[in-house]
Amino acid sequence: MSREESQRVDPGDGLNEIERMDKQYVFGTWSYQNEVSPTEIVDADGVYFRDAHGNRRLDFSGQLMCSNLGHSADRVADAMAEQARKGAYFAPGNTTENRAKLGKLLAEVTPGNLSKTFFSTSGTEAIEAAIKIARMYTGKYKIVSRYRSYHGSTYGSISVTGDPRRLPAEPGIPGTIKAPDPYAYGSTLDPMQSLDYIEEMLMLEGDTVAAVLVEPVVGSNGILVPPDEYLPRLKEIAHEHGALLICDEVMSGFGRTGEWFGSDLFDVTPDIMTMAKGLTGAYAPLGATIVTDEIASFFEDTMFCHGHTYSGHPVAVAAGRAAVEMYIEDNLIDHAREVGDYLGERLEELAEDHPSVGEVRGVGLFRGIELTKDSEKRVPFGVRKDKISPGKTVVDEVSGHAWSEGLYVANMINTLIIAPPLVIEPDEVDEAVAILDEALRISDDAMVA
Ligand code: PMP
Repeated sequence: MSREESQRVDPGDGLNEIERMDKQYVFGTWSYQNEVSPTEIVDADGVYFRDAHGNRRLDFSGQLMCSNLGHSADRVADAMAEQARKGAYFAPGNTTENRAKLGKLLAEVTPGNLSKTFFSTSGTEAIEAAIKIARMYTGKYKIVSRYRSYHGSTYGSISVTGDPRRLPAEPGIPGTIKAPDPYAYGSTLDPMQSLDYIEEMLMLEGDTVAAVLVEPVVGSNGILVPPDEYLPRLKEIAHEHGALLICDEVMSGFGRTGEWFGSDLFDVTPDIMTMAKGLTGAYAPLGATIVTDEIASFFEDTMFCHGHTYSGHPVAVAAGRAAVEMYIEDNLIDHAREVGDYLGERLEELAEDHPSVGEVRGVGLFRGIELTKDSEKRVPFGVRKDKISPGKTVVDEVSGHAWSEGLYVANMINTLIIAPPLVIEPDEVDEAVAILDEALRISDDAMVA
């Protein structure tokens, strides 16, 4: 059979022509390529998106926990189009009104004396910049991060990532050290003991640690909210040992937790904060690394040895400025807190009705449903070491069923991750919870007898 003929045969894979073309010519991320099954999305509106097969789905995970503004923020789309027409790109040595004003806005909405921003194009790059800045500022090189974390996919950011996605990239960059996490449900350490562990590590490492890097509320590794005293004490411990605190707010930022940033939940100002995702509501790829006044002034007479062609790309910062203005003017942070409280109540009800729900946890519109096959012993379902071994888990089946019934909910390892657009309304939460209620029967049925 010729190559053309073989492509004309319908392999019965349920994919349309575009999806099959995509599968053939485009790498699927973090996947065995033979398992990739792309869905052609044709349009989206509010908290819904529609595929080329005529299905409409409620977006209960904000795509990758980033479409905070929903899928019809015309104001952001217009700002991007306007900038693209005026001039799509100028080298970073120039500026635009949007870049300067977004920088100022970020200094205003981030906590404390965080004041000066480096712009990049992704969360990964925001972390790379944070690592480099911490090393340049402190003159030290080690970075302490935690096991249940994800910080990005390039060599520096994957080396400080703790979850199994780091494994194919090991040994990674030198000087990365991992610590346990505040994970009350699944760890043998209680959350504050995990903090003692970090204190001990910092003491034993001597004066070699540039920074401690954490997600204030852990995102893709299961929505872990630490106790109130954890983050303030972590900052103290880091400073006592001459290390900076870097908070990775790529997922927890921009209203996701019902506050501007996860750090605000604990009244902590980190020395460096990274942002992406919600920064533009995912209308454009934009990462940001903001530092305190002290760190900013260090670079007055020390070269800031970092940059990209697309640092502060005019169209991306136009999206960022319009997005941040929208969070402010539409009171989206308050809305997220209020609807988030309602979401929390509805998920607690699910937990009561489904024995396979080990724990629901989270804050604001950032929630996790951890499943278990044995609620007494808290045994996880998953056998797949997330993203690095093939096959489906029970948790995949639960989210797969929800998908087929019109609900997109992400899952990681053993937890369903719920992070809808901040514009979601209570009746849409109800619609999603009804579908989850059905889907969770699959995990209930798969529990050990
Ligand atoms: N940090 C955190 C906390 C993240 O959740 C992610 C992405 N999920 C990243 C960094 C990396 O961001 P990106 O995929 O935009 O490079």
